[in-house]
Amino acid sequence: MNTAVVLFTSDLRLHDHPPLRAALGAADDVVPLFVRDDGIEAAGFSPPNRTAFLADCLTDLDEGLRDRGGRLVVRSGDVVEEVRAVAREAGAGGVHMAAGVSAYAHAREERLRLALEEDGRTLRVHDAVVTALAPGAVVPSGSDHFAVFTPYHRRWSQEELRGVLAAPRTIRVPDGLRSEPVPSREDVEKAGGVSDGLARGGEREARKRLNAWARGGLARYDERHDDLAGDATSRLSPHLHFGTLSPGEAVHRARAVGGPGAEGFVRQVCWRDFHHQVLAARPASATADYRGRHDRWRSGGRADADVRAWKAGRTGYPVVDAAMRQLRHEGWMHNRGRLLAASFLTKTLYVDWRVGARHFLELLVDGDLANNQLNWQWVAGTGTDTRPNRVLNPVRQAHRYDPEGSYVRRWVPELEDVEGSAVHEPWKLPDAVRARLDYPDPIVDLADGLARFRHAREAG
Ligand code: FAD
Repeated sequence: MNTAVVLFTSDLRLHDHPPLRAALGAADDVVPLFVRDDGIEAAGFSPPNRTAFLADCLTDLDEGLRDRGGRLVVRSGDVVEEVRAVAREAGAGGVHMAAGVSAYAHAREERLRLALEEDGRTLRVHDAVVTALAPGAVVPSGSDHFAVFTPYHRRWSQEELRGVLAAPRTIRVPDGLRSEPVPSREDVEKAGGVSDGLARGGEREARKRLNAWARGGLARYDERHDDLAGDATSRLSPHLHFGTLSPGEAVHRARAVGGPGAEGFVRQVCWRDFHHQVLAARPASATADYRGRHDRWRSGGRADADVRAWKAGRTGYPVVDAAMRQLRHEGWMHNRGRLLAASFLTKTLYVDWRVGARHFLELLVDGDLANNQLNWQWVAGTGTDTRPNRVLNPVRQAHRYDPEGSYVRRWVPELEDVEGSAVHEPWKLPDAVRARLDYPDPIVDLADGLARFRHAREAG
């Protein structure tokens, strides 16, 4: 009787799961294992929103395995030591897992490979599980990764993605292996800090959302994706982050529907792969400028007060404040809101992108090292944007992407009685009306912010 271990990390699903398929093909018994990794928790990478969503994902994964005759084995501790111990206890010949892209994931793979080899076991790392196309699968001549999105997208679109793998029907897990209880969302919520409007996690939830999306919103995604109030994007990002949905399957599904909406959506999934291949090739870009620019970002004193106002959604720019409050309330923010909030912090306030990225990572349920850090860098102009000095004007953007002001009124109740697009410029309201609003004056003049940024760029 031979046995294999499948280590689940950012791939918490049964459908389209190459490591699980390979393990089932190679062994009679399989141990589906999740390790609550000390290393990730010590790095502060398990804030309440993602921990709560993760609990849903693990509960659902365990149920999915039980429906097929198996169960999830959960352990906590050092991931390498735990995998090694489980492999020994189960007498497994090998371990299967998905390839990761971060420096941490690469180090984990290497440590695990060495530890297993010492015990005479093998580690098989599978590509194209957490991304649709593996990082490095397409590269430009003379480099190990694409630094510009458009040529990457062109090449990526020409590649044939592997077919979608069905979920296995049965899984046999050896008896007698110790498992900790699967963490529950309720327990995480009791510990505090979870956003009230946080979405539910889990593969079933992901598949429901994908099905509804493919039948509904996808067709008009190209026209509606920037409509802040319309909320017309897929909201699949946490599922792609935790791997309860396979990015490859999302692409196949959208392509089967076809049309401009599907094309626009697939392009965004390609952005996800793009940032993952940048991080895989340049792991330091999680914390250091991708393109060194020697900024002397503002900090201390007035700048710290500005950051506090930005985090609290009290900058006096209603669309920025609405976005920041959506983040706190839902643990998620519309992409247009993310662009505006990040541009406001890094350009108008000229504060280091890492300050904003850290705050997003604390709250975002889809908070992702590749997507978050590299999107922040893109907006800050230290990343892969080919127009690094563009500055988004939050007032003009608000009129364009929230023309009726509904998004602002939804998230900034102090302004809910201000009608129409006047809500975007409350400083223009008559004094008597303004005096009744418990809403701050703008913390910065946009022209001053722009001049400060331009001056810094010229000096830099
Ligand atoms: P849709 O519009 O439906 O897009 C489909 C999928 O494509 C998304 O689920 C996502 O996986 C991917 N995608 C869309 N836009 C991008 C993009 N610009 N870059 C990379 N992938 C994209 N996305 C994250 O998943 N995690 C993050 O931590 C994150 N941080 C961000 C920080 C900033 C400052 C900015 C500007 C963007 C960030 N994004 C991040 C990208 C994007 O905002 C979200 O992926 C998107 O808003 C998620 O909503 P959705 O699933 O409805 O997206």
